[in-house]
Amino acid sequence: MTKTVRQVAIVALVFLAAYCARLVYRDFHPTALFLFADVGQGKCILVVAPNGKAMLIDAGTQTYGQDGKEEKFAQKVLSQFARIGVRKLDVILVTHPDKDHCNLVPILVKELQPHLFWSPVGENPEIEWQSVKAAITNNYTKTIVARLGQRLWLDARNGMWVEVLAPPVSIVPKVSEWSPNDASTVLRLKFGEISVLFTGDVGEMGQRWLLGSGANLQATILDVPHHGSKHNLETFLSAVRPKIAVISAGRQNPFGHPDPSTVEVLKRLGATIWVTGEQGSLLVKTDGHSLNLTSLQ
Ligand SMILES: [Zn+2]
Repeated sequence: MTKTVRQVAIVALVFLAAYCARLVYRDFHPTALFLFADVGQGKCILVVAPNGKAMLIDAGTQTYGQDGKEEKFAQKVLSQFARIGVRKLDVILVTHPDKDHCNLVPILVKELQPHLFWSPVGENPEIEWQSVKAAITNNYTKTIVARLGQRLWLDARNGMWVEVLAPPVSIVPKVSEWSPNDASTVLRLKFGEISVLFTGDVGEMGQRWLLGSGANLQATILDVPHHGSKHNLETFLSAVRPKIAVISAGRQNPFGHPDPSTVEVLKRLGATIWVTGEQGSLLVKTDGHSLNLTSLQ
């Protein structure tokens, strides 16, 4: 063996060892990501399991009549997703069919081709929701309707799953008697010691039902209901007792979100509060025990 061949072989072995070490490290340190994207006055949350499976929960913004705003925010979130390695989606869940939760979905469905659309129980005659229904009528997306008790394993090997906690089954035939917000799909995710509660815009009626349902509402991270509006019960927030409370609300929005009373309760509970419109998109990395929070531009 010549000296050069030996040197090349040594370099190759070093690279191989580093590659193997990385694989072993990844296997022993499975990491999940949660991205709470800043989409102005709306909501858009991406969950990435350690195995790479990606689930989007809501994707919408208030456009206030400005043309092209959906496109602008859709491109922004697509570039953020790409930066954390997400170029395809496995699941899209829309919590309820209001435009500030779904008007980016048609663009994202086209670009990211999800296998599964997890539909809300409600309906909405508005063009934005009708466009979502048209977009998911394709040959790569299957649709199921969210039902209480459904459980989806995002990563069985690393123990990450989500479960539907609401709305109640009894709401389905009379969804119009509940406000569309209260009919939001509520999900609880579990990964190691970390839990996350995703709430859409569930209001006081839905929160009261959740409290009475007997479900474990405690969560490390709370996607605060309804952009942090005043329609948040202190008893509900106390039952969740979040360490991190994320409020998806646009800077200087005309709705006064988040409401000072809701922020006050969350502060009293000791939660770290993140408002997307003020602090930008939040990226949470976790190995199921510790949490690492960074801002993503
Ligand atoms: Zn909303």
